[in-house]
Formats: sequence, structure tokens, C-alpha cells
Amino acid sequence: MAVNWKRQCLKRDGYKCRLCGAGYPIIETNKGRYLHVHHIDLSGVILFGSDRNNNIDNLITLCPPCHQKEHAKIKDVIFSLKINNNCTLDDIAKMLKLDPRVVAHIFNVACVERNGNRPLP
Ligand SMILES: [Zn+2]
Ligand SMILES: [Zn+2]
Repeated sequence: MAVNWKRQCLKRDGYKCRLCGAGYPIIETNKGRYLHVHHIDLSGVILFGSDRNNNIDNLITLCPPCHQKEHAKIKDVIFSLKINNNCTLDDIAKMLKLDPRVVAHIFNVACVERNGNRPLP
């Protein structure tokens, strides 16, 4: 429990998952069984820490299973738009009002998870 924005978010949400109401420890353990703080605009999934929007309005407390589902959902949407609808990553970024770097990162992760390899450029 180091960072302030995490503490603020957990406190506001009453130390419970905002989606399912589950309570988990707030101590960060190796096994990940603790309350996570999710970035609603997905800025949290990119690697550039300083670019993340840590404003309290952009944060939500989630339990580990709900957090995983939230990330899986957006990965499915981006993967399907690119592969099934043949959209470019830039189009998708505009459509979802996301930073193109975020979209590219999420798409790469989805490809690695599905195919075990990197997408064609
Ligand atoms: Zn939950
Ligand atoms: Zn998240």
C-alpha cells in the first residue's frame, strides 16, 4: 500500500470491489489476492507510468477476478475490431477515444495470449 492514489480509491470504495462487492485484503501479496485499483480510461495498462491518469475520478476498486474480466473485455473488443472488422489501430483508438499507444499495446497482448506470438506489423 504505497501510493496515495491507490489508498484514496480504496478508501472511497469502502475497501470492496465496485463490481461484485467482494472484500479482499489491501496488502499487496505475491499471489495477487488483494484489492486492485483499475484505471477506467485504460491509461493504467500502458507501461509509461507517468502518463497514467491517477485522478480519483478515473479509478475504481476491483477484486482480482473482476479486474481480469475488465481487461479481457477490452482486449476482446480491440482484437475483434482489428481482425474481424479490419479496422486499423488508429481507427480503433479514435473510436474508443483511447491513446493509440494503449490500443497497440492491448492488441499486442491479445495476440500473444491467443497465438503465442507477435502480430504482423
Ligand atoms: Zn469483484
Ligand atoms: Zn486495470
